[in-house]
Amino acid sequence: MTPSRVVRVEVGGDGRWGVVEEGRVLHLPDGPFSGLSRRGDALGRLDELRLLAPVAPSKVICVARNYVAHAAEHAVDVPETPLLFFKPPSAVIGPGASIELPEESRRVEHEGELALIIGRRCRRVSEDEAWSAVLGVCCANDVTARDIQRSEKLWTRAKGFDTFCPLGPVIVVGLDRKAVADLGLRCSVNGEPRQQGRTSEMVFPPASLISSVSHVMTLEPGDVILTGTPAGVGLLQAGDEVTVEIETVGCLTNPVTARAP
Ligand code: MG
Repeated sequence: MTPSRVVRVEVGGDGRWGVVEEGRVLHLPDGPFSGLSRRGDALGRLDELRLLAPVAPSKVICVARNYVAHAAEHAVDVPETPLLFFKPPSAVIGPGASIELPEESRRVEHEGELALIIGRRCRRVSEDEAWSAVLGVCCANDVTARDIQRSEKLWTRAKGFDTFCPLGPVIVVGLDRKAVADLGLRCSVNGEPRQQGRTSEMVFPPASLISSVSHVMTLEPGDVILTGTPAGVGLLQAGDEVTVEIETVGCLTNPVTARAP
């Protein structure tokens, strides 16, 4: 199956689902979770529409220390079971939207990550069943207030500020489990390379993560799992532009601004 690209675009102040075909966005009136075959009118050209975050999740589950090299740069061990935390849905922003630096932190950092988008409700699925519960994948940035993370045992504040979860620009639907398990991932700031890795370096690969999370909580269509970041995380400053690029998945770029008082 040739991969499809699913987007959410703004039309008249509302979000609409669509699928990209030959540079145009065709409306998906039923959304993407019941298949991509029933298509409505063209909503416009992709390069002329404003892209929103490609999902509005009920929850965003993140995995810490899932790349050995990133755990090493923070001098911590790799966990024996996936170490999970949440980002609130209110942190989600789309491509091109600003990451706002909160006044509570002096050190906000980027973490480029592969995001898994859940396609159907699932609970306690095995690793072999897990991939069939996935709609697709997109780029993500697990923006982190590192100084707050270091000073507090729980990460809700450090990871949960508004705008700290850029997602997009598109959901790539139809990549198989094997392809997703070995994709190149890069993160750059103002065009300067910062992070580089491959999804094959994950301690717990995508299917294993979905199975593990689903043994704790029911996953719903549109829920997002952020799969961890490779080494090279670093500082974001007002005026920067940060890009997360994943091979065959896309390129997610967000400007960085100081939060208005
Ligand atoms: Mg992370």
